[in-house]
Amino acid sequence: MKPIESMPAPDPRNVAHWRADFPILGERVHGRPLVYLDNGATTQKPASVIYAENAFYRHGNANVHRGVHLLSLRATDAYEAARAKIARFIHARRPEEIVFVRGTTEAINLVAQSYARPRLAPGDEILISAMEHHSNIVPWQLVCEQTGAVLKVVPIDDTGALDVVAYEGLLSERTRLVAMTHLANALGSINPVEHIIASAHAKSVPVLLDGAQAISHLPVDVLTLDCDFYAFSGHKVYGPTGIGVLYAKAALLEAMPPWQGGGDMIRSVTFEKTEYNAIPWKFEAGTPNIAGAIALGAALDYVDAIGMEVIAAHEAGVLAYASGALQAIPGLRLIGTAADKASILSFVLDGVHAHDVGTILDRHGVAVRAGHHCAMPVMQRFGVPATVRASLGLYNTREDIDALLEGLAQVGEVFGR
Ligand code: PLP
Repeated sequence: MKPIESMPAPDPRNVAHWRADFPILGERVHGRPLVYLDNGATTQKPASVIYAENAFYRHGNANVHRGVHLLSLRATDAYEAARAKIARFIHARRPEEIVFVRGTTEAINLVAQSYARPRLAPGDEILISAMEHHSNIVPWQLVCEQTGAVLKVVPIDDTGALDVVAYEGLLSERTRLVAMTHLANALGSINPVEHIIASAHAKSVPVLLDGAQAISHLPVDVLTLDCDFYAFSGHKVYGPTGIGVLYAKAALLEAMPPWQGGGDMIRSVTFEKTEYNAIPWKFEAGTPNIAGAIALGAALDYVDAIGMEVIAAHEAGVLAYASGALQAIPGLRLIGTAADKASILSFVLDGVHAHDVGTILDRHGVAVRAGHHCAMPVMQRFGVPATVRASLGLYNTREDIDALLEGLAQVGEVFGR
């Protein structure tokens, strides 16, 4: 029987080599080479990730934690090895602090329902910010409706940076949890998470970080940060869809009741009483996304082989080039100009709807996102219905930005600007 081996590590030399690892970058759209600038929505996958998922189904498919046969044991080993890999990637103390979920959205809902709901009383407060994705707003609104707790929102300034003074003021005796994004998806702002956590902890308030965007652009060290919860999605860090991670400190997971019931999350079941499994399996009811977890492990191997610092430095160079060029376009307004930002170029063009810009760019082979980016309150804050968002990944280059600029010049021609 063939082992589920992985592909050779990527060539870390430079972006041309990295690009060659992503088969989809060879595609053409509307007869033009694909320029993929929608990484904030989802990233493309390197061949090693595609291979890992494929190899699991070709050579190793079986259910985990249940079988005594070789395939099942091997699948279990590979699934749990992926968990350990993820723990190392974000510097968790133990693999048991890694819960596999479908993605960031599910991770935040799990914390809202299993951690917050049993603890909240009427008048208690959950503190979020004005730059959150709907996934870090709606689960808290639901739990507030269920418990009588109140959602408080820290404002942001005109650059899209968190108002830190307002944050300190809003942290109150009633605050039970702070839930903030690490890197804002519609603006690119990087939050001062060390400061956010230190201030919250000084008042014994736990902190959840939404790492959906940060995970592919910034080194994440949950141990040094000392955050209590960290959520991210595999598909935003070059892994597959349908798999994600909730990191939580072991003591918190131990104290939380299961969220969903079913197979695998139990130790024993009778009609009178069910004894739950140990962490993290207590939170993984039903057959998990085994291939997805293994392929996410391959994605993190890929990122590690290049190095997150190397990726961040490369992306910062492309971001600076793009920001300068976009700001020179008359009538273009960048939304999100915080001093500390990464990877996201959100903008509006005078007199042209974002969707029209997105459609013309698409005809030019350039894939961007146009809309509210699941952050409607951010659009309201900046008084725009939608923005065009170009978001970077490790394989983007200045040439990609030049293609974006050419596409925008065409928008100018079509709309007589
Ligand atoms: N939070 C942020 C900051 C995001 O950018 C996203 C996705 O765009 C999410 C949460 C939700 O991620 P998912 O849809 O993978 O659960």
